[in-house]
Amino acid sequence: SKITIAIDGFSSTGKSTVAKQLAKYLGYVYVDTGAMYRAVTFYAMKQGLIEEGDFNVEALIYQLPGIEISFKFNEPLGFAEVYLNGKNVERDIRTLEVSGFVSKVAAVSHVRQKLVEQQQKMGKDKGVVMDGRDIGTVVFPNAELKLFMTASAEKRATRRYQELVNRGDKVIYEDVLQNVQERDYLDSNREDSPLVKAKDAIEIDNSNMTLDEQFDKILNLVKI
Ligand code: C5P
Repeated sequence: SKITIAIDGFSSTGKSTVAKQLAKYLGYVYVDTGAMYRAVTFYAMKQGLIEEGDFNVEALIYQLPGIEISFKFNEPLGFAEVYLNGKNVERDIRTLEVSGFVSKVAAVSHVRQKLVEQQQKMGKDKGVVMDGRDIGTVVFPNAELKLFMTASAEKRATRRYQELVNRGDKVIYEDVLQNVQERDYLDSNREDSPLVKAKDAIEIDNSNMTLDEQFDKILNLVKI
């Protein structure tokens, strides 16, 4: 029977890569919860609620009911893309600019409440692989399988840098490394649902693992 798989961990540990692989293999639904926090951040930026480092939290909370996030499966891509009020924002949410602010938006309790509620609805029938920072601790504390991914900060920054370069963004490695470290710090130290390994999560350090090795290891855990 179908289970719930929760994948948490630090930024750019390859959570989404393995989650997508796993969902495809098992015929499960993959939910990228980071994309939801990114979409809210992109919305706040577009509305001028974040300017030159100033963040109008009150205005964002007031406008939250008007923010609708949804996913639509893209057949050729093989995964679901994120939509903000009906518009595909899959590309817009992956910029270093959004990455630079998302942890501050994700620290707002009202934002978390709204998104966690939606995530719980999306996963209520099981058969879901969800990745994020609080899936095994808050969203699905009873998930049958919980993974906690880690890798060295340099490995993670290198991967993220390569992703941004591949899509044509002009970025500097040092900026990417700084963003990854800053997000880890903010995500781990916020008051509401900080990033922490669930007691029953299995930690996987993939610093020195190939994607195939990692997938095999996780598949074995699914089969237990
Ligand atoms: O997974 P991704 O790196 O795209 O997540 C972007 C940011 O969204 C994280 O750095 C974190 O601040 C926030 N996030 C969160 N809770 C989640 C998923 C993401 O706070 N479940």
